[in-house]
Amino acid sequence: MKSKKKVWVLGGGVGVFFAFALLFISLPPKGHVPILMYHFVYPDVDVKHGKGSLNIGVDEFELQMWFLKTFGYRTISLDDLYAIKTGQVEPQGREIVVTFDDGHSTYLTRALPILRRYGIKSANFLIWDHLNLGWSDFVSLQAAKDLAGDPLVILGAHTLSHRILTELEPKEMEAEIVQSKRKLEEALGKPVHYFCYPTGVFNEEVMNLVGQAGYRLAFTTSRKRLNHNPETLYSLTRIKIKPNQGLFVFWANVSGLSGYAKELSVFFSQLTGNGSSGKLNVYEPAPKTM
Ligand SMILES: [Zn+2]
Repeated sequence: MKSKKKVWVLGGGVGVFFAFALLFISLPPKGHVPILMYHFVYPDVDVKHGKGSLNIGVDEFELQMWFLKTFGYRTISLDDLYAIKTGQVEPQGREIVVTFDDGHSTYLTRALPILRRYGIKSANFLIWDHLNLGWSDFVSLQAAKDLAGDPLVILGAHTLSHRILTELEPKEMEAEIVQSKRKLEEALGKPVHYFCYPTGVFNEEVMNLVGQAGYRLAFTTSRKRLNHNPETLYSLTRIKIKPNQGLFVFWANVSGLSGYAKELSVFFSQLTGNGSSGKLNVYEPAPKTM
């Protein structure tokens, strides 16, 4: 009896192993391009682990970049992503995008040396005012100009002042979106095609302004979407990489598995009428003003 049980346990174990091996090889499906979001890179002992932490430990970050490189993920630029999203380029499979928000100094000091070592492309969304305040925690305008010449880096706009766009008067909203693009372009001497919403909050009015300003793509800060709206070029969802997750969760994220799990849980919560449809639909479009 006992040995029979052992055989079953062993067989089950082997089955689970091969199931995961198969998933590991086959995921993500071609054309599914996860976009990773990071903010601040600290020595691992200084990383804050609380809910909503935007920190990542430098060793953990290095392990994640090693993982991407070792297992054949193609870390593509935002220009490549745009070409795929608009159908100009066929995805080859295993594409992935690495992004950072806010232009924090730790991007320069800790993330970039690792990204360069592995030849990984990345984007950083800069807040115009922060470039000019002389704060040591943020990349300076001169550093941004230097970065603009790095073939592995694409700089995007993240407004002038990082205020929540949906709370602003139309004129201010427009200035945050249009001026941040124009000022960055003048300073960097090259076009700025990509935008990211402060704290991920936006609505249809904001999205329209971003499109009219001439941006190619705009990014949220999570898997949140506009209520009842599909993902568009101006509401690209991202995966927030939380600290201390371990490589298995990282793989679940880059393979698309965690995304499917999220979609499934939203689907079932809607089926069972549990009201909450999860994090995917939290932002109601702004009410139309007369
Ligand atoms: Zn931000």
